[in-house]
Amino acid sequence: MDTPKNDSKPSRVAILGAGLMGRMLAVALTQKNLADEYNVVLFDQDNEHGHDSAAYLAAAMLAPLAESAEASKNIMRMGEQSLNLWPEFLETLEAPVFFQQQGSLILSHDQDRAYLLDFQRRLKRHNNQSVKALNKDAIEQLEPSLANQSKYFMNGLFLPNEGQLDNRELLSSLALTIKKRNIAWFRNTAVEHHGNEVIFNNQSTKFDWVIDCRGLGAKTVNANLRGVRGEVIRVHAPEVDLSRPVRLMHPRYPIYIAPKRNYHFVIGATQIESEDRRQPTIRSALELLSSCYSVHKGFAEAEILEMKAGLRPALPDNEPKITVDGQSIQVNGLFRHGYLLAPVLVEQCLAVIQQTQTALKPKKTLKNSAGLPNIQLSSSHETDSNCVPPPFFEQLVEHAHV
Ligand SMILES: Cc1cc2nc3c(=O)[nH]c(=O)nc-3n(C[C@H](O)[C@H](O)[C@H](O)COP(=O)(O)OP(=O)(O)OC[C@H]3O[C@@H](n4cnc5c(N)ncnc54)[C@H](O)[C@@H]3O)c2cc1C
Repeated sequence: MDTPKNDSKPSRVAILGAGLMGRMLAVALTQKNLADEYNVVLFDQDNEHGHDSAAYLAAAMLAPLAESAEASKNIMRMGEQSLNLWPEFLETLEAPVFFQQQGSLILSHDQDRAYLLDFQRRLKRHNNQSVKALNKDAIEQLEPSLANQSKYFMNGLFLPNEGQLDNRELLSSLALTIKKRNIAWFRNTAVEHHGNEVIFNNQSTKFDWVIDCRGLGAKTVNANLRGVRGEVIRVHAPEVDLSRPVRLMHPRYPIYIAPKRNYHFVIGATQIESEDRRQPTIRSALELLSSCYSVHKGFAEAEILEMKAGLRPALPDNEPKITVDGQSIQVNGLFRHGYLLAPVLVEQCLAVIQQTQTALKPKKTLKNSAGLPNIQLSSSHETDSNCVPPPFFEQLVEHAHV
């Protein structure tokens, strides 16, 4: 089936992959003010629960400053911007999603204090961003239940602006919203594409736009992608009263304990350069569980609900990338920052599509709710997508064949 674009009709957009990016883009492209502009079709090889996606496994920490100890300034800036955008995006969904912005607490046991100092040194602070050094009393003021442990924390840091959300509530709420908006969703359907031609169920269909959000599944078209293994444990711990995510300094990787609703905690995550998809190893399980028990003895009687391993889709520089090639866009390389960056990445994708379409029409100003500079395009622009103006964020949007 070949459907050439007619300007008076909505653009037909195929979204490949209904993990985090795919679902968010489907919802963003069908928001009220765009409903007449895009006709979205979603494809995923999985069912609507998305158990095989990285999105399903994640802890969904929204910690731009804490992540900056390892990640670039660009990721930190996009993360900060995304944190501001999340509440507004969640408002548009059909079911509530747990979202919290009460800061992160960073702790170290005495013997690991050097890691805490090193972590603090590596934070890419800007604009007098506040990082509070905490002593025992200040730690216990923030999290009173830590006062009753057999071992006290003498040193910590508080990063007040950080947040988290519940990834599984988000995925369900996105699925419900997609259903209510009658967006066509081909479940259990593996897809490939050549440019804007989508191949599925032994047929091929041309769309006005194809957005490839298949995470690691896009390896067929991007050989630079690699998986980075992460192991996560979910527990129910009614005896643990922590009100915000806690990161514990650890010689191999910082371990976080993220409290969700109803005394559910996500404990994660290992970061291993391997595409091993087996279930978690005993070593990782011991590290994660002993770490959380060393923070709070209430974990002793916790029920282990799940131990899982998955792969984060990463590019060689561990940075996300939006690659535009004609009418096809690939959004990938979200690595360990998918939730942290998703709202900004969605905005940037929408901007790429709208700029290109606007270039076909008379003058129009693009609005950008992230508060980023508006872009003026005029009909004098060529209609080729390579004419899209420079991206808002350095090196995020790349044009193939330029
Ligand atoms: C252990 C772990 C912990 C994490 N913790 C955090 C965190 O705390 N904070 C944070 O910001 N990020 C975190 N992340 C990262 C985050 O989960 C990812 O960056 C994000 O999910 C990537 O989104 P995506 O949409 O690109 O890929 P995915 O969410 O993996 O979705 C890809 C989708 O494409 C589908 N697909 C693949 N191939 C095909 C095909 N051929 N045809 C049809 N469909 C296909 C898959 O079924 C899947 O549904 C974590 C990840 C892991 C693994």
